[in-house]
Parts: sequence; C-alpha cells; structure tokens
Amino acid sequence: MKVVIIGGVAGGMSAATRLRRLNETAEIVVLEKGPYVSFANCGLPYYISGEITDRDDLIVESPQALRDRFNLIVRSNHTVTAIDPQRQIVTGITAGQPFSESYDKLILAPGASPVMPPIPGLKEAKNAFVLRNIPDLDDIMTDLRTNQPRRALVVGGGFIGLEVAENLRNRGLAVTIVEQAPHLLPPLDEEMAAFVQRELTDHGVQVITGQAVTAFTAGGQQAQLADGRTLTTDLTILSVGVRPNTEVAQQAGIKTGFKGGIIVDDQYQTSQPNIYAVGDAILVTQQITGQPALISLASPANREGRQVADVIAGLPQRNRGSIGTAIVRVFNTTAAMTGLSERAAQQAQLPTQVVHVLGKNHAGYFPNATDLNLKLVFNPKTGELYGAQAIGPDGADKRIDVLATTIKGRLTVSDLPELELTYAPPFGSAKDPVNMLGYAAENLMAGLSEHIQWYQLADALAQGAILLDVRDPDEVAEGHFPKALNIPLNDLRARLGELDPSQAYIVSCRSGQRAYIAERILRQNGFMHVRNLDGAYQLYQAVR
Ligand code: FAD
Repeated sequence: MKVVIIGGVAGGMSAATRLRRLNETAEIVVLEKGPYVSFANCGLPYYISGEITDRDDLIVESPQALRDRFNLIVRSNHTVTAIDPQRQIVTGITAGQPFSESYDKLILAPGASPVMPPIPGLKEAKNAFVLRNIPDLDDIMTDLRTNQPRRALVVGGGFIGLEVAENLRNRGLAVTIVEQAPHLLPPLDEEMAAFVQRELTDHGVQVITGQAVTAFTAGGQQAQLADGRTLTTDLTILSVGVRPNTEVAQQAGIKTGFKGGIIVDDQYQTSQPNIYAVGDAILVTQQITGQPALISLASPANREGRQVADVIAGLPQRNRGSIGTAIVRVFNTTAAMTGLSERAAQQAQLPTQVVHVLGKNHAGYFPNATDLNLKLVFNPKTGELYGAQAIGPDGADKRIDVLATTIKGRLTVSDLPELELTYAPPFGSAKDPVNMLGYAAENLMAGLSEHIQWYQLADALAQGAILLDVRDPDEVAEGHFPKALNIPLNDLRARLGELDPSQAYIVSCRSGQRAYIAERILRQNGFMHVRNLDGAYQLYQAVR
C-alpha cells in the first residue's frame, strides 16, 4: 500500500508516524510545500521576543530523522497543485520542476492560511507580515533586526494576534492592537475579554476595538481606521483569522462546505474514494451544537491525523468532532476557554444560562493566592454543559482542562460538585472553583437564586429596581456603582425594616458570594423580587 500525505506538520505528520507504527510495510510519502516539516507553529510567537532562544527548537523533527526512525519519505519544498482522483495521482512543482506521485490512499492535511484582508494599500506595504510558518517568522525577524521598528500594529485581536502583541511588547516595541469585533478574543464573551484588555493596557499595549483598518498609506507606514484615526506603524502583523487551504481539493471535485472547509465523514473520508482529510482544512462537527465548524487548533489536528491512520490501517475509529478548547497567555494573566461562549450558545438558539464565579487559584489563606474569574455556560433545564471560560494569573488552564473533560464526557451541572479534585492549600481549595460553578448553577436551577447579568443591569435600574450593595463601606469607598444603596451584609438582618418587601432589589458585593447570602436573607424574609448581579462589582467594573 502506498499512502501519500499532503502537508507535513500537525495533522499530516501525526498521520504518517502513526501509520508507520501500525504498518511497517506501507510506502509513506509526505509532500510539504514549505522548507520545513514537523515544526512547532504554536511556538513561533515566542521566538519574536527571545523567550524561545534557539530557532532550531521550533523544528521538532528533520526529514532525515523521520526517515531514520519512521522510514518516511519526506519531500519538503514540494507543492501539490493537482489531484487526479480517477488515476489516483497527485502532481505538483518542486524547484520549478513538475513532479507526480501515485497513491493508493491520499491524506489531505494542508492546514489553513492567514486571511489577507482586502485593505487598500496592504499589497504595497513592505512592513506588513503574517505568521503561519518558519519562513514567515524569518521575514519578521529580518525586519526586526534590519529596520529596528519601534512601533508595531497588530491587526486582529484573536489568540495569535495577542501572542504576537505580547512578544513584540516584550521585545520593547510600542504595540497597538486593532480589532474589528467589539472586543478582543471573539471566542470569549465580552466581560471576560475585558480582563484581558486590562492586562494588555496595564502592560502598555494600546487596544482599539470595534474598529477596522480601512487603508494603509505611505507604503504601509500609516494605517487609517474606520473612525478617521491614523496610526503610524513601522511593523504590521496581520492576524485576522485563517481560511482552509482547500483550492487543490476543490479543483479535484472534493466537496467542501462552510467557509470552504473539506467535508469528511466519520472515517475522515472525503467525497472522493481513497482520499481522506484532517486538520485545519476540514469541517468537523461542533459536538455541542451538532453543526459543521472549522476548529483550527493543534490538538484536534494531531488527534485527527492519528485517527485517520487508524482508519486506513483498518482499526475501528471514528471522527467524533470537536468542542474547541483554547488558551493564551497575556503577560501575567491567562485566558482559557472551552466549548461555546454565551453568545455562541445564544446564536445556536440553545436554552442558555450562565454563571460567573470569582475563585482563587489555591486556598485563599495560602501565600500568593490570586483571583480566578470563571464563567460557565449551560442549559438551565437539563444542566447540559455548553462551555466555560477562565481568566487569571494562575490556575485557568487546570480549571478549563477539567471543564473541557466534563463537556467531552457529557457530564452535567449536577456532576460538577461531585468532582473530587486535588486539594492541599498550595494547589487548590476544598471547594475548587469548578465545584463552586456547579454549586452556583445548581442554586439557579433549583430556584434558590436568580441572576441578572451585567448587560441587563442598566435596564433593570431604569425600570425601578434598587441596587443593594452589601460590601463594607471601606470597599465601597474604593470603588462603587454610580447609584446603589449600601447596607453591609452583616447589618442586613438588623436593617431589613429600611427596605420594602414589594420593591425589586438587585444585590451585589465584590464577587457575588456575600450577595448570594443577602439574596437568601431577603427571600426568606418575604422579599419576592430579588436578583443577584452575576459576577458582582468586580465583573461590572471590568466591563463598564
Ligand atoms: P498545518 O500544521 O498548518 O500544516 C499544513 C501544512 O500543509 C503546511 O506546512 C503547508 O505548507 C502544507 N501545505 C498546504 N498546502 C500544500 C500543498 N498544496 N502541497 C504541499 N503542502 C501543502 N493551536 C493550538 O491549539 N494552540 C496554540 O497555541 C496555537 N498557536 C498557534 C500559533 C501560530 C503562530 C499558528 C500559526 C498556529 C497556532 N495554532 C495553535 C494552530 C495550530 O498550529 C494548527 O491548528 C495546526 O497546526 C493545524 O494542523 P494542520 O496539520 O491542519 O495544518
């Protein structure tokens, strides 16, 4: 059997090496258009600042090493330009010369390419770059060393854009991020992204959201924004998303769907016989919505590569889809997410409820405890978990990994308190923030508490509700809502007579914990219209 693989990085090389472990006699040929295979795209941004010091560390395996260990025929600088599914041949170009390769099985793992937005003046801009592979990185590094830029513009505030921005800033450049969406990191919800934005601005990065770059002028030295502003930039990085590399597949009659992604079945089989596809180029089933989605992440690409090798080797295997779990470090904080955001769940028309919890990375009384903001998105009727987000200097990764596992395992809200997670003071809390999300969500589902979200607050106040802040006066003095009645929680029982049981109240504190106690006191004293401001003051002041 001869297996040809197009694309020699995450999905392609996972397929090649797994297949070799399963089949010692197959002829396995990997065709890669770039000069390198098996490189660490995810590590590229960290070379910009020098955090990764050795460029060779970004190249995980060389073609020779892959031949020695796995007996793979790895052909870099080989661009496939056409596939003939009838004759089972691929053709292409290497060093200006045509080549062709027959196959019994063909695996497409061509990945995705950065979107080049049609901005006037961009083509003429000599100082504008994208970052997808090592040659892209080399171009950026050459510019940094040769032209010594001082001001950088990052267009696009997604995961890669933020990593690049952080690393350029750590290198000493003045950095501006322009994001067209209303907030950074569009897969997160607005209030969670607000914490990330604050971290960036605290580190001197200028963040402009809700604005598009409409033109580059002066050879790329100036960027015009939709609102008329002009930014001066010595170096521009474009990271406005990726699109699947599927032109060659489309020309071969392989069916594609949403945003051009290759359609595969649960065996990674495309619409053409003996042709399979994996990685950023394919449409997967979003496991929560059941809808086709492009999920451009390394973990699914690696898994899919391994699984398609299983399929070709005749092992029982199934493409089950992805939920999308991602993380990014932004200076001293981390933003992590899994599954659907609140907005995505609403767009999918799923019955949606959310809960925010402010926890700690480890026991609050143990040194170096830091805040951890968590959000859970779930079905208020069934308790099905849709997604979660976490922001904080420490521990966001651990909580989102746990929650990603619960979603993949189809656990529900009521399972979260049951999770027995590691605890000793330096590591966590006896009630881990993940357990707390479960407790809080259960309280909502049981009707013990009713939440109001930060974006509903202004309307509720306009309709006559009173905001009752139960923090202590010294906390209120440090920062407060524009208009709120302050009764510290410990005084509330004694001062109930000052309140009207028929009036609508919204209770709040710093994190929501004391507000919940206040809500329970009020409800059990006959106050029927009480809601708890989810996320409380600390969330409100982050997003306002
Ligand atoms: P790729 O790894 O892109 O490999 C596809 C290969 O196919 C490319 O090398 C390409 O040259 C080759 N190819 C394309 N067309 C042809 C052709 N016609 N002929 C021959 N070869 C062809 N994901 C995460 O989960 N976490 C991260 O932290 C993270 N960070 C990232 C940072 C950066 C800067 C980038 C660019 C990506 C990052 N990703 C991250 C995304 C992750 O790298 C991708 O999801 C993953 O590499 C996709 O694997 P793939 O095999 O589908 O495509």
